[in-house]
Amino acid sequence: MRAALTRRAAQSSPASPRCVQCLQRRRHSTYNHFITQNERSPEPGAIRLAVKDNIATFNLPTSCASSILAEHPSPYEATIVQQLREHVNAHVVGKTNMDEFGMGSHSLNSAHGPVRNPAGQDLSTGGSSGGSAVAVQVDDADIALGTDTGGSVRLPAAWIGCVGYKPSYGMLSRYGVVPYANSLDTVGLLARATTPIRASIFDSSIYQLTDPKDPTCLSLKTRQRCIKVTPVTLPDLSDVTIGLPLEYNIAELDPSIRSAWSQTAELLAANGATVVPVSLPTTPEALCAYYVLAPAEASSNLAKYDGVRYGVRSTTSDAAGDTLYSETRGVGFGDEVKRRILLGTYTLSSDAIDNYFLQAQRVRRLVQRDFDRVFRLASPLHEPVQFDLSDMPDTTDLQDKTGPAQVDFLLCPTAPTCPPRVEDVKTRGSVASYVNDVFTVPASLAGLPAVSVPVRSQDQGTAKHGVPASMQIIGQYWDDRRMLALAELME
Ligand code: GLN
Repeated sequence: MRAALTRRAAQSSPASPRCVQCLQRRRHSTYNHFITQNERSPEPGAIRLAVKDNIATFNLPTSCASSILAEHPSPYEATIVQQLREHVNAHVVGKTNMDEFGMGSHSLNSAHGPVRNPAGQDLSTGGSSGGSAVAVQVDDADIALGTDTGGSVRLPAAWIGCVGYKPSYGMLSRYGVVPYANSLDTVGLLARATTPIRASIFDSSIYQLTDPKDPTCLSLKTRQRCIKVTPVTLPDLSDVTIGLPLEYNIAELDPSIRSAWSQTAELLAANGATVVPVSLPTTPEALCAYYVLAPAEASSNLAKYDGVRYGVRSTTSDAAGDTLYSETRGVGFGDEVKRRILLGTYTLSSDAIDNYFLQAQRVRRLVQRDFDRVFRLASPLHEPVQFDLSDMPDTTDLQDKTGPAQVDFLLCPTAPTCPPRVEDVKTRGSVASYVNDVFTVPASLAGLPAVSVPVRSQDQGTAKHGVPASMQIIGQYWDDRRMLALAELME
């Protein structure tokens, strides 16, 4: 909060466009954060926008960092890119490197090689939007687009040390975003500070726009209801209640992150906020539910990459051969994508669907209910509750399952640890990597807005490897604007 009064986003120093491009190339060869770069320099005054490689753009290919879509030219542009070009004069500087199809937590699963962390090249950048996080951090872009299905904007933001914002599900159009798991996918934004993110989506009014081309983008009618019932301005901190979810205080939490969490809570309380512990009892089940649901949706989405409808066809098979699909997919997909396809195909199979997919859907509803119970604001998506007193559960049940709606926001760490070493990530294997998403997936399952913000001031936790600890703020559905205002105060 003190920092909010003094800190300003670093301005890029004026330099000739030629020179800027040379520097950008040199940085790129060090961190490998772009897959393709725009040869054209931005006009003076334009906002430099880096775009994750799973978001369609004109001119630059959209490969999702996969060999199966190598050099894929998109015939159209994603709505969010078009909106940012039209409303905030954004200029696409390049397509950023990522985990293939958004599957991963370290930006290592890319056909173009790993993204490297500017804080230490042996450290994970987080994923899957690692390239977007690095692009803003090294000042190659003012804002970057990422996608966040289960934390892919927030985790790299935390491990690179920038701000990463996942909007309420359905607020921003997904048209032109290559689907990973449709019911969870959101477009997210990264920047070195919160202000440019708020300015590009809220001051520009992009958040008010619907998109008939994306059926999951909120309709104008629902959007108007959300806008009408959700407060816009953050009240004085003395009128704000922050909840600390107890279930996030897990044994595996790095002590430096735990300390940063307590110190941030203390600082908010010292500035007048009421800070209370809350319980979100289904949290421990959320990660498992996510890793059933996301691969299930992915296995269905990725069926179209078969070398016939989409994708680079394997040159070793002829079009009439039986092995065309398997050879194309065997060569075109990386190991993690294949693992997710197999996992998803299994959990959707008739033998397993009851035990896995349907159970995970139930857990998802419980996670949503946990959140709804603790927020002071009701979700604007829910119809007002009609109480039929003849059908009330008995009171013991009621005490167990409900409680006073009390908090405006939840505060918790974005990730349980500081950025791990890439070597350790490789040794531990992919299932160990899934644990990094433990704090980000609950908000994704519930479709809630969340933002990861580095807590920089010296007394807010120790910075490890020069990367400050990051905290996550989670808000009620559509309460994005006030949540970002709180993040701005915390920078
Ligand atoms: N790490 C998570 C996964 O691999 C989240 C990815 C994402 O949000 N795109 O599924």
